[in-house]
Amino acid sequence: AKYSHQDSAALRFNSTLREKIERKHSLEILLRNANYSKEFQLYFQPQFRISDHALVGMEALLRWFHPGQGMISPGEFIPVAEETGVILPITDWVFDQAYFTIAQVRQATSMPLQMGINLSPKIIETADLLISLKQKGVRHRVPSDWIDLEVTENSAMSLHSTIEGTFDQLKQSGFTISIDDFGTGYSSLSYIRRFGIDRLKIAKELVDNVAHDRNSQLIIQAIIMMAKGMNLRTIAEGVEHQDQLDVLKEMGCDEMQGYLWGRPVPFETFKQQYLPQ
Ligand code: C2E
Ligand code: MG
Ligand code: MG
Ligand code: MG
Repeated sequence: AKYSHQDSAALRFNSTLREKIERKHSLEILLRNANYSKEFQLYFQPQFRISDHALVGMEALLRWFHPGQGMISPGEFIPVAEETGVILPITDWVFDQAYFTIAQVRQATSMPLQMGINLSPKIIETADLLISLKQKGVRHRVPSDWIDLEVTENSAMSLHSTIEGTFDQLKQSGFTISIDDFGTGYSSLSYIRRFGIDRLKIAKELVDNVAHDRNSQLIIQAIIMMAKGMNLRTIAEGVEHQDQLDVLKEMGCDEMQGYLWGRPVPFETFKQQYLPQ
């Protein structure tokens, strides 16, 4: 009986593993055949200064509406795109759409806003990232200080010191850099300092518990204090409830991004809701 139990557990494991591999493989094929302009859309989520609710920027978040499969979440397809290299043409498309949108934002307002763009480690490693961004800037007439590049804490860690030079060049060209999902990885103070980061995006996992959990409170408070000491801005990700925002404000967090004040939406909606009419 013992063996058959183990066998069935092994079988179950194998079949879920096989399902995962098959799903990944079919996603890869769907991705390779995707018609970007028909199936992809950028959504934009507002970012606000907490003290006065002023709009400070927006994050570009990719959406994939597949004709047969329906909506596929970036949490699922971005990792596959990264593994297979399809992230390169996808990111090129994202850059164009994001820059195109900024050009429209600039027509609607003179407010100094920033567009957050997520960068995969693969993209940071490509030699022509800076050239590509600059070319898009020229083509769409968008100054680089409109762009905030988001790099996750974990991917930044995995890149070692080779990206030091890349970050330096990007910063010298006027781009700002935010560390995404900060506070769940193992990056050190000196590390953040070395890379000349502009802003820390406090991970949703921590923000989720900030209203009630002492541990999350201590960590977030420490992050904010450290950021202040180093002249970095902080933005809390995934703020859904007023009691979370109250605590974050009390702690001195500068900015917020979350369903409480705004979900990711298509640009037409964003314009109507957040830009002067
Ligand atoms: P991220 O960069 O950390 O983006 C924030 C995620 O949190 C987004 O999920 C956003 O919709 C979600 N979010 C924001 N506020 C709330 C909230 O109050 N509650 C909840 N439950 N969620 C909230 P999304 O759009 O599904 O994207 C997931 C991840 O996919 C992103 O995490 C990012 O790592 C990646 N991603 C999205 N677009 C791109 C892209 O264009 N390029 C790359 N490389 N990655 C992307
Ligand atoms: Mg992000
Ligand atoms: Mg994040
Ligand atoms: Mg994330």
